[in-house]
Amino acid sequence: MEKIGITTTVPVEIIYAAGCVPVDLNNVFITSACPGQLVEEAELAGYPRNVCAWIKGIYSAALHMGIKKVVAVTQGDCSNTHALMETWQLAGIEIIPFAYPFDRDYDMLKLQIQKLMDFFAVDWLQVQRSWSELQEVRRLAHRIDELTWRENRVHGKDNHLYLVNCSDFNGDPGEYAERASRLIAGLPADPLAGADEVRLAYIGVPPIMDDLYDYVESRGARVVFNETQRQFSMPFQTADLVEQYRLYTYPYGIFYRLQDIQEQLALRRVQGVIHYAQSFCYRQIEDMIVRARLSLPVLTLEGDRPNKLDARTKMRLDAFIEMLRA
Ligand code: SF4
Repeated sequence: MEKIGITTTVPVEIIYAAGCVPVDLNNVFITSACPGQLVEEAELAGYPRNVCAWIKGIYSAALHMGIKKVVAVTQGDCSNTHALMETWQLAGIEIIPFAYPFDRDYDMLKLQIQKLMDFFAVDWLQVQRSWSELQEVRRLAHRIDELTWRENRVHGKDNHLYLVNCSDFNGDPGEYAERASRLIAGLPADPLAGADEVRLAYIGVPPIMDDLYDYVESRGARVVFNETQRQFSMPFQTADLVEQYRLYTYPYGIFYRLQDIQEQLALRRVQGVIHYAQSFCYRQIEDMIVRARLSLPVLTLEGDRPNKLDARTKMRLDAFIEMLRA
């Protein structure tokens, strides 16, 4: 089955309906044995130092995997995607553009979805069947999320991993469903921590450092809301594929995202918010809006290359958690 690279969440129902396998290049990059090397390879190829490491990592990841086609989101994701697409084209990769309309216009989104279906030569019936199959799998991700905040039985890192993987289901929804079911069946019956646990939210793009969740739990806190990752799981009550990708908040600007964030912060009884801002990302600018609009304390963390938390960041997290506990 042909592997189709994706640069962020797109309607994977279409790719699966066509008998192809979506590959989220972000996940390939960050879970590779040596993600730092992928960043360096992109720099050796000519990528500037002051470009986001995710962009460099996914550029190299596609080349390493021998990917021949990539669905690239030209609107609603990353300001660097156009140049990324061009460097892939230079390397002989075919680009399939997909755009989320800025104003969430239903008809414009439907047109984009139709164009993607035309490219993959599938019809609405096939896509609807694929949607139904993936809904079963998505339900498991939603259950893991619910068990995280309502019953407090899931670690923040597991919540992150299972939700973030909904962008492509690791190329095998059946295997994903088996793993998710095993995780749910193996959970402890009791909550992970006592009533003094500090409840955190994580908002922004997924972290480039891999020890954030474990570290906050070692300090008596836990992430009970992963904003973007939860959106990847499509936690919506709709049977309309177009509407599903219209309700999805990530591509549509900070104010629409904040509506969902504020709702979930209240529902999940969150005490403090970690806003992750990637170095050299235009989304860093949105931090000022996040701080202006959220009433809870916000800790803004910045990460650059794939790495562990540095001492300064650990100290800031310690102080933040202690302040929330006081
Ligand atoms: S972190 Fe920002 S700059 Fe980097 S890939 Fe994501 S959206 Fe683009």
